[in-house]
Amino acid sequence: MSDNGKDPQGGASCDGDPQSAESGRGGKANVLLYACSGGANVGEVADRAARQLTDEGEGIMFCLAGLGAEIPSMVQTAKDAAVNVVIDGCSVACAKKLFDRLGIPNTVQIEVTDLGIEKVKGVRATDEQAARTMAAARSMIRG
Ligand code: SF4
Repeated sequence: MSDNGKDPQGGASCDGDPQSAESGRGGKANVLLYACSGGANVGEVADRAARQLTDEGEGIMFCLAGLGAEIPSMVQTAKDAAVNVVIDGCSVACAKKLFDRLGIPNTVQIEVTDLGIEKVKGVRATDEQAARTMAAARSMIRG
């Protein structure tokens, strides 16, 4: 990460301005993607899906932690998005609860465990699980 908060890898955005990510591998600036990125395997699945969807141009992964910290520019960016696609690992729904608390509209949510993927301690995410989650998110984005 550079000093200005931008991700030199392109793709995901970390500076409150998703437009800045579009010059790299980033996807549609009006579709923002978030993952709970929890410690459980399903949190990893959510994270991998959000990053891979960004690589494929379905949207731009944005920082859930920035919203948790209530960084004003980042909260505003989320409020201005056409749609915020929130991928939670499980029914605890930490990310969705954050969006609800901040009153951010235009939010849709997926729970990885709803896709038949079990939350298991000490297990890593698989490619197939990430692909399954991406497919669910893709159909939500494309309607
Ligand atoms: S939604 Fe579930 S997997 Fe994600 S951070 Fe919360 S408890 Fe962990």
